[in-house]
Amino acid sequence: MDEAIETPQKTFTCQLCGLSSPFTYYGQKPPNTRAIVLLEECFVTKDPFSPEKDKFLVLGSTCSLCSLCVCVSSDCSLFYTKRFCMQCVNKHLDQFPQQIQAELTKKQSSKAAVS
Ligand SMILES: [Zn+2]
Ligand SMILES: [Zn+2]
Repeated sequence: MDEAIETPQKTFTCQLCGLSSPFTYYGQKPPNTRAIVLLEECFVTKDPFSPEKDKFLVLGSTCSLCSLCVCVSSDCSLFYTKRFCMQCVNKHLDQFPQQIQAELTKKQSSKAAVS
């Protein structure tokens, strides 16, 4: 456990919502996991709520278009074959399939109704 102190803690920060959390790994295959390969390179941290070693949480990833660091919240990014930040999704919305466009429009209109 002493070794951990010497490792500077790396922090993931979502550049859209500002969420920040320390992460333990960035990549597609988190250590200590059994046969898990993620679909994208992600910021990963060990699940602090699970006693199991191979449980982990995906915090976020980088936008495949603009390389912005974004969290996996549906407010900040969208995964459609690749990770896209919401800024890029809105910019290129017409290039996404109808189903995704419809979902986003639905979400935005329900949000507008709340606020
Ligand atoms: Zn975020
Ligand atoms: Zn982007």
